[in-house]
Amino acid sequence: MRDIFLGNKEAKVTNIPRFQPELAFPKLNEGMIDRIRRFGEIEYRTKGERLFSQGERDTDLFVVLSGSIELFATDQGGERLYPVHMEQGQFTGELDLLSSRSALLSAECGSDSLLIRVNREGLRMLMRSEADIANLIMQASMWRRLQFLGKTDGGVLVIGPSRHADVMQICRFLTQNSYPHRVVASESIESLQYRDKGEHPVVPTVILADRQPLKAPSLLTLAEALGLAEEPRQDIVYDLVVVGAGPSGLAAAVYGASEGLRTLVVEGIGPGGQAGTSSRIENYLGFPTGISGEELAYRAQVQAQKFGAKLTIARDAIGVRKRNNDLCITLTGGFEVCAHSIVIATGASYRKLDAENYAAFENRGIHYAATAMEANLCRGTAVAVIGGGNSAGQAAVFLAGITKHVHLIVRRDSLRDTMSEYLISRIRASDSITLHTCSEVTRLDGTHDLEDITLTNKNTQETRRILTRNLFVMIGADPNTAWLRDCVDLDRKGFVLTGGEHGFEPTRYATSMKGVYAVGDVRSDSVKRVASAVGEGSVVISDIHRFLAAEVPERDATAN
Ligand code: NAP
Repeated sequence: MRDIFLGNKEAKVTNIPRFQPELAFPKLNEGMIDRIRRFGEIEYRTKGERLFSQGERDTDLFVVLSGSIELFATDQGGERLYPVHMEQGQFTGELDLLSSRSALLSAECGSDSLLIRVNREGLRMLMRSEADIANLIMQASMWRRLQFLGKTDGGVLVIGPSRHADVMQICRFLTQNSYPHRVVASESIESLQYRDKGEHPVVPTVILADRQPLKAPSLLTLAEALGLAEEPRQDIVYDLVVVGAGPSGLAAAVYGASEGLRTLVVEGIGPGGQAGTSSRIENYLGFPTGISGEELAYRAQVQAQKFGAKLTIARDAIGVRKRNNDLCITLTGGFEVCAHSIVIATGASYRKLDAENYAAFENRGIHYAATAMEANLCRGTAVAVIGGGNSAGQAAVFLAGITKHVHLIVRRDSLRDTMSEYLISRIRASDSITLHTCSEVTRLDGTHDLEDITLTNKNTQETRRILTRNLFVMIGADPNTAWLRDCVDLDRKGFVLTGGEHGFEPTRYATSMKGVYAVGDVRSDSVKRVASAVGEGSVVISDIHRFLAAEVPERDATAN
């Protein structure tokens, strides 16, 4: 088997910012250390003592008063990676400090040491009451994870053909959940060494840090094995369950949790939604040089967790029912979570093209997202992008910088009515983009993977072939509401009806079911923009406060 290492390690196109050690491993000043003492216990530990190990959940925070701590990850060969020596004023922890996910790092004393140990309860209080320390810890946690994502050795190996749908799905899942990984790409399925009981090759196999192979795992199995799945509590009633972790859902979680609501976010894959697949959002307020959807989602997730929101991933919501005055959501895997209120933020999913042989090339050259991951697969080649909306425009501009040429294919005679002006100007100015108007892709061909597409001119019926191994289909999306049928009223196209005569109360985001609200792209008549999705997610929280005050006055507002 010939191995080709792809993924973050060798990717030149990446959304990961350059690592900044001073931000990842800052020192607390004496005043800060004094304030932290109130939240923890002083402990004396001897050289070599293990403080916590990779894979443990709910690890404590340790601050070095004297002596030192070594932080490190372990790879599949048991070797210690990236050891970091921490001295007085430095502290342990990483992104998992903000959630109940398994730690990616181990820590042990580098010498006899005096430490402050802060448990999770103490940490929660610390993060709430000491804003400057909270920000320092949060910033360090985020930078430490970014360091890992950039290196990937301490993460998992995904073995299989790099363009295979299941390999890509697992990579997307790991990327969306900020989990370091690397693809060990094999040339053909037949050459794969991991086999099922019938000796058939398994695609993909995921090798965990302890060398355990997971053969074609489901996302939930993988999430559980990596300690990414935080189990929702079934013994309590949440104030708010947000379904969907795109921009609108994460905004609802940030505002809900920061305003004292006991908040759970339920997500089928990982944070980001459709915006998470955007290579660069350039007109989102406050980011003059643009921000990738992935980074925006990552930051929003950390922000929600900082305020105490819980996030459960790899479990889809499959139904809602009333239980006395509570609302209960059934999740895949047999879980049921209950809440006083629900925000539906499940967004929409990509439309497919009606063209000859289309289904045969699904996962063999057809893409629905244009992120660094897809771009790496088509570097230096010609690609085709279909669609005249902003998603297609963004993809075309992004891919033009990486690929040899971009063919942008639209049905209308211009982009004028469907795309933002700034993208139209970029497309016009680019020598690397050819716009094909009045054109439809009518046929796809290739012996195994996609090799060429046929365009048909709508007016003349003339056809022409374009050689390309990568087709980006960006033709809009349909709402993710199948799970809501018979629960809330939907419009003709399946979007959730809210407000006015449709809502249980006369507010903009109320659905027909009491206590259930909808925001973002899934909502009928919503403006499909990241900024408006974020706006809706934050505004709905004031409706929820009013609803809870009127309907559940006895709830324990200090429980978050
Ligand atoms: P969209 O705006 O709905 O555009 C869909 C495009 O796909 C249209 O040009 C449509 O062409 C075309 N299309 C639909 N079915 C097709 C088919 N069968 N064959 C060929 N073309 C087809 O979708 P979107 O671009 O995904 O954007 C969704 C929403 O998100 C929009 O409101 C957009 O503004 C927003 N968005 C915003 C940003 C941003 O804030 N910068 C970025 C991305 C997306 P016809 O006109 O011929 O039907």
